[in-house]
Amino acid sequence: MEDRAVEQKIVMMNLAQCWQCKQYLPPGAEIRSRQMMTSVLAGRRDHLKQYELVSLCTACDDAVAEKQKQEEDRTGQNMVWVGRIVGMLAVNRIFYHIGWPLPIAIIVTVGLLWYGILGRSMLGLWIAENTLETSLEHTTATGEPTLLAIVIILAMLVTKYGWNEPQQENLPAEGGSR
Ligand SMILES: [Zn+2]
Repeated sequence: MEDRAVEQKIVMMNLAQCWQCKQYLPPGAEIRSRQMMTSVLAGRRDHLKQYELVSLCTACDDAVAEKQKQEEDRTGQNMVWVGRIVGMLAVNRIFYHIGWPLPIAIIVTVGLLWYGILGRSMLGLWIAENTLETSLEHTTATGEPTLLAIVIILAMLVTKYGWNEPQQENLPAEGGSR
């Protein structure tokens, strides 16, 4: 009887505990390890954060993973928008520089963003602008940069969407590979 009590105690000691919900995990249950901030030491100037490898149950680990993913997505989305705004300003400036009226420049810039070709158009226009800078001094043709800008935008649209009709992709492939 005494031996049995000792044995039970040992089993209890071996049970892992979820750091988050403090639940004891039954033997055989999946235990996840994760680096978590376990304590914050408030200092006079800054806070010292302590990270430790802790054991979590699957439910808590999934919840933490989901929360971290959401935070990363939010940061990623913010970065994408910062990039878009910078890109829009840059493209707008180029259009304005080649003599387009501001309202048209803004409309075209928004259009580029809408079609998802703002980034590549910006690069194309920027390269064209820099090569034109030198050639513009020799030529008086003002229509040239505008034409070039339109050609670049059309080229970017083609590289993104291609010449093919979209519905052709839905047609079953002849011969049937599968
Ligand atoms: Zn838990």
